[in-house]
Amino acid sequence: MTSPLQGEDRRFDSAPAHHSRRKQKMLGQNFLIDSNISKKIVDLAEISEGEKILEIGPGRGALTELLFSKGDLIAVEKDKWLAVVLKQKFRESAEIIEDDILTWDVPPIDVIVANLPYSISSPILFRLFNYEWNRAILMFQEEFANRLVAKPGSKIYGRLSVMANHFASTKKLFKVSKTAFQPQPKIHSQVVKLVRREPDYDLDDFDTFEKVVRSIFTHRRKKIRNCIRLTFPEIDVQNLKYMDLRAENLNPSEIAELSNLIFALKSE
Ligand code: SAM
Repeated sequence: MTSPLQGEDRRFDSAPAHHSRRKQKMLGQNFLIDSNISKKIVDLAEISEGEKILEIGPGRGALTELLFSKGDLIAVEKDKWLAVVLKQKFRESAEIIEDDILTWDVPPIDVIVANLPYSISSPILFRLFNYEWNRAILMFQEEFANRLVAKPGSKIYGRLSVMANHFASTKKLFKVSKTAFQPQPKIHSQVVKLVRREPDYDLDDFDTFEKVVRSIFTHRRKKIRNCIRLTFPEIDVQNLKYMDLRAENLNPSEIAELSNLIFALKSE
């Protein structure tokens, strides 16, 4: 495979021999090689001077080199070799941290920008919701992005859509062809914008909400009555609302209402 890298950047390619193709695959290393896409992503982040930016998985720096001049940039890269080269390249312009985003403690951040490693998009996203940030421009595999933004009534509306909606608004921005990467992934990608906000419902107990969401979407073809009976056998579902519907018919506020009713019954 011919490398698109020039000059000093060829160091990204010269990893020691133990740095196998298998490891690159495990880390979801599909690098952006289309600079128009990188520019579009960074422009859409609408970063104001002095804002704190987090980049997850800077890789060979396709986004990093556009981000560092926009604000105060921290970039967390798990791959040892890439982190070494990035630290040299951006030594004066960004804080490069060699660490795993799934264990690293995220400081308060204004904007997160990332082309995420696909296999761990979901754990990364849900871990990020435990921390303080304002908005995120994230690239996901297209199928994941579609499920993330899906609305009630759709076949792909599910646990991911409802749980993400609890923490943020979600909006698809644009599709990215697999030809924009090297090596090419099998599937196209989508860039999504998330903005943190409070949900438009009151919730009495988050754990019950999570349990209800998991229950009704795990057996999405079953009536909600049967799902709730299985998950909360201690509860009398006789007089509960929404029991004859299926999960895809309930919007997040209705699921929250159901969760509050169940929590009240459990607390009796
Ligand atoms: N941002 C670069 C780009 O757009 O070309 C690289 C994107 S590549 C899809 C994902 C990057 O995330 C890789 O550099 C990979 O090594 C890194 N990565 C994978 N797992 C990670 C983790 N748990 N924590 C931090 N970085 C990770």
